[in-house]
Amino acid sequence: MNIRVQGAIVIGAGPVGLFCVFTLGMANIPCHVVDALPELGGQCAALYPEKPIYDIPAQPFILGADLVERLAEQARPFEPVYHLNQQANRLTRLDDGFWRVETSQGLTLEAPAVVIAAGAGAFGPKRPPLEGLEGYEGHSVHYLVKRAADFQGLRVAIAGGGDSAVDWAILLAGVAAKVWLIHRRPQFRAHAGSVEKLMSLVAEGKIELAAPGQLAGLEGDGRQLSAVIVDDL
Ligand SMILES: Cc1cc2nc3c(=O)[nH]c(=O)nc-3n(C[C@H](O)[C@H](O)[C@H](O)COP(=O)(O)OP(=O)(O)OC[C@H]3O[C@@H](n4cnc5c(N)ncnc54)[C@H](O)[C@@H]3O)c2cc1C
Repeated sequence: MNIRVQGAIVIGAGPVGLFCVFTLGMANIPCHVVDALPELGGQCAALYPEKPIYDIPAQPFILGADLVERLAEQARPFEPVYHLNQQANRLTRLDDGFWRVETSQGLTLEAPAVVIAAGAGAFGPKRPPLEGLEGYEGHSVHYLVKRAADFQGLRVAIAGGGDSAVDWAILLAGVAAKVWLIHRRPQFRAHAGSVEKLMSLVAEGKIELAAPGQLAGLEGDGRQLSAVIVDDL
């Protein structure tokens, strides 16, 4: 399908892309929005919908999913057209000055302006090179915590040292039966406030650190994990 519009094409329906739709709408510029994910909200929706966010102006506290809903609501009056589940994989300047965006689903959009609000890019999990990993994926190996309740009462080992790993460890400390955080270095790359909170939960015995350590193997029946092996570094 080929669509030519007198507006803008926004690549990325994360928080920035959604707010662009609002800002452009205020200037009477309608938008077509392309995103590789099946839903709006970028990292907020895909990676941490239940995480509390504290650094949004005039919003002392809001969950990731609620922030996305508010941004979508703010953009809605300008009637954006969303093209989800498709990656923009080619951008071309045409002779008449328009931009052409081609997507992985065969859609072609042409418009006088393109906004690239691609954030962290069209992201997917970084899969560790562990034997038998595929069999556990989707059963007891997960790459994100979408609903904390899914981990209720479980023993959870989280591998990573950035914002995602630290935030999820904090989130699950009150939900899971036990939380380990495995990281290759003793220092964490998350926000200072999150690291402080992490360390206080470690001191309270609610999270156990395996750092510096590296995820080295999986044990179980091929679908359900019974243990993870961590090498000391
Ligand atoms: C666990 C975690 C917790 C966080 N907590 C906070 C917090 O408390 N406070 C805070 O301010 N920030 C936080 N962040 C960071 C925040 O989520 C990002 O800064 C924010 O999402 C950036 O928004 P964005 O719209 O620029 O990009 P993204 O959210 O990355 O969205 C970009 C969108 O573009 C799409 N896209 C990219 N390339 C293409 C393509 N070629 N074709 C189609 N679609 C494409 C992606 O699919 C994605 O939906 C956190 C991040 C994580 C991972």
